[in-house]
Amino acid sequence: MIRIIRSVDKALSNLLQSRTVDLEKVENVVKDIINAVRDGGDDQLCAITNRLDGADLAPSDLPVGDAEIKAAYQKVSDRFLAALRVAAQNIYRYHCRQLRNSWIDPQPDGTMLGQIISPLSRVGIYVPGGKASYPSSVLMNAIPAAVAGVKQIVMVTPPDSSGAVNPYTLVAAAEAGVTEIYRVGGAQAVAALAYGTPTIARVDKITGPGNIYVTAAKRQVFGAVDIDMLAGPSEVLIVADESASPEFVAADMLAQAEHDELASSILVTPVVGLAEKVQQQISKQLAKLSRRKVAEKSINERGAIIITATLDEAVQVANSFAPEHLELLVSDPYRWLGSVNNAGAVFLGHYSPEPVGDYMAGPNHVLPTGGTARFFSPLNVDTFMKKTSLIGYSPRALARDGEHIVALAGTEGLDAHAASVQCRLSVLAESLNDG
Ligand code: NAD
Repeated sequence: MIRIIRSVDKALSNLLQSRTVDLEKVENVVKDIINAVRDGGDDQLCAITNRLDGADLAPSDLPVGDAEIKAAYQKVSDRFLAALRVAAQNIYRYHCRQLRNSWIDPQPDGTMLGQIISPLSRVGIYVPGGKASYPSSVLMNAIPAAVAGVKQIVMVTPPDSSGAVNPYTLVAAAEAGVTEIYRVGGAQAVAALAYGTPTIARVDKITGPGNIYVTAAKRQVFGAVDIDMLAGPSEVLIVADESASPEFVAADMLAQAEHDELASSILVTPVVGLAEKVQQQISKQLAKLSRRKVAEKSINERGAIIITATLDEAVQVANSFAPEHLELLVSDPYRWLGSVNNAGAVFLGHYSPEPVGDYMAGPNHVLPTGGTARFFSPLNVDTFMKKTSLIGYSPRALARDGEHIVALAGTEGLDAHAASVQCRLSVLAESLNDG
């Protein structure tokens, strides 16, 4: 049964401690895989895929061709395709709002300063494939990249033991604008994207969630490529008052818990009666779930109901926890929104359960976990763009600022820096004298 905790401080310190993911424990395994792919290229990719996924592939089997994608469309239902297309449209529209323009700032003295915002050329998106299929994750990664203007969107995903890629994943990739697909997953796929192999050209950035091997590999290749974030197990924190339905709250907690045994589902409320009813509802609803075992372990070991003195204190607990998903199941969620500082995504009111955001609403579902909402943002269009600064000084501007630059360069002991400005100041002084 889920715990009800009345000591807020103790509950918080326990919860904060229990969410750290120990990437170190797979560090060496992952390092060996990365080194093997760097040294052995496609042959090693195939050998490791054989060992870990049971698929017997030759390098020429790695790319997924058009015929396989066409065949995938025959395997998925019309209902799935219709839902996928509505979701894709919503995600596309939402992410278009995030696009930012390059800008220049011309000044009266002839100086021109500015910033060019341009898409990355080639990105790799990791789509998990081990325990389940995640077509929604394909949309959430590929569509922002397409909106950003990335020309080459490369998807990697593990094959099953027959070498096949999930048809739902393939259809989602085709709908979302993925340009290349390779049937390879885990740390070996991350290594191929980061360093390149004869078959898979290296990318500029790797995004997307995966298991501990994928996350550890992303951390290890950071620097050779950029990455989006280090994703850990999923989490929801619900702040609820007396207006909340115990049935809804329990359902939302279980929706999170069924993801993963390590997922966290937390209710924070000042209403003791609600806490007790949610506890009963969870037991009742658990019995009906197809993923009961996973959800039960998660809810019993990682879940908690925390009783606070006030709703204000409940929101402060949420800020300290910095959850991936925050649901405000309160009578006036917009009133409390201003007090929320740390959350990946906020779900406002009784009719915005987290699955609305997971699949349909439009905002990205790849969100910071494990308290990293303190400094990471959801995956977004900027994730796939870079900025370049523009500096165009006029002679007048250099004459004005030159001595300041020489002074700063001198302080840092960088004579050549000073000289590069001084030689120009001399020319400017001469032309002034001539004039
Ligand atoms: P995965 O694709 O991340 O991992 C499968 C791969 O792991 C295998 O192909 C294999 O290469 C590698 N692997 C497995 N055992 C290994 C071992 N012993 N040594 C080395 N490598 C090994 O798929 P998964 O395992 O199902 O995990 C998916 C994860 O992604 C889950 O934790 C899920 O919750 C998460 N997820 C998150 C989101 C999100 O938006 N945050 C969305 C979808 C999935």
